[in-house]
Amino acid sequence: MGNIGETTLEIDLSALAHNFNYLKAKLNPNTKFLAVVKAFAYGNDMVTIAKKLEKLKVDYLAVAYAKEGVLLRDAGIRLPILVLHPQTINFSELIDRCLEPSLYSPRILREFLKKTSQKGQKDYPVHIKFNTGLNRLGFWESDVDFIQDTLEGRDEIKIVSLFSHLAASEDRDEEKFSLRQIASFQKINTSLAKRLGYQPMRHMLNTSGIVNYPEAQFDMVRSGIGLYGYGNQPEIDNELKPVATLKTIISQLHKIEPHESVGYNRAYTSDGYRTTATLPIGHADGIGRQYGNGKTHVSIHRQKAPIIGNVCMDMVMVDVTDIDCKEGDEVVIFGDGNSAEDFAKSANTLSYELLTAISQRVTRKIKE
Ligand SMILES: *Cc1c(COP(=O)(O)O)cnc(C)c1O
Repeated sequence: MGNIGETTLEIDLSALAHNFNYLKAKLNPNTKFLAVVKAFAYGNDMVTIAKKLEKLKVDYLAVAYAKEGVLLRDAGIRLPILVLHPQTINFSELIDRCLEPSLYSPRILREFLKKTSQKGQKDYPVHIKFNTGLNRLGFWESDVDFIQDTLEGRDEIKIVSLFSHLAASEDRDEEKFSLRQIASFQKINTSLAKRLGYQPMRHMLNTSGIVNYPEAQFDMVRSGIGLYGYGNQPEIDNELKPVATLKTIISQLHKIEPHESVGYNRAYTSDGYRTTATLPIGHADGIGRQYGNGKTHVSIHRQKAPIIGNVCMDMVMVDVTDIDCKEGDEVVIFGDGNSAEDFAKSANTLSYELLTAISQRVTRKIKE
């Protein structure tokens, strides 16, 4: 069996294709698919993932910041790329690299008009973001007149889409709130489209939205976490395949006497004879301190080994007393056989945080 030899994030592109096809099958035939590849494609390899998605014929990509879009353009990605949260300082580069900004406030709209005008642009594609209840980013319904007045007689930009974002799409207890957001978005869309005299694309749903609000697909959906194998609910998780599996190896085994301590601040004390394994992965690799002190386990030869003591910067120690293992053996942190969602939940967080935290020093290995 090929040993990975060091901490490695294995990225399974066939799982990505499976997840894309699964989500795509939930869409109406004409609904476009935007793949969210921000944050290094949720900790996977952004360029590799984007190239695969281009082959799978997604319609759009989205990143959070202009810098991420520049990396994709440098790698030769030609799909349209929506930048969800651009800053004015990057507008010039954004235009030079044909990235499409989300315009989310009067300030951002004015500044982008100014920049496109300076650069002699005509019909530059932009997306208008509306706040319908998340209260994070976006124009308000009451800004529709402002948007129309500001654009009157200007041809530097062209609105290709109107969009909004649900606050609790995975939470059935908030269904009423989500339906109100959808209705509010529809109302905004109708009034702005009428004033503009044309109908831009409309989109609202993230992964859990696709699952829970199929009636609100509009013209496009925006999926991130689902593509990477997690669906925020067990029935969906069962259908999806994790793209990323984080593996490492056993660096050293120690025999611990009763009442000895392990690790910094002596946070763990043995209650008997124990065997511990030290693994070359720590909080600098994305396994935060919240996973230490027995809360979370890793998997060695498909058996559970709890993380004991405090997580260090470059190492964790796990209890392998009851596991037949040796130095150099493979350890699965999460992924295939040890879900990232369960791993994250054990320390009160989400697969989103765990996946995006895997740092760039972890070797990425692509499986076709
Ligand atoms: C990150 C993000 C998404 C993707 O959400 P998932 O839950 O990962 O599918 C969609 N839309 C916006 C605006 C986002 O910021």
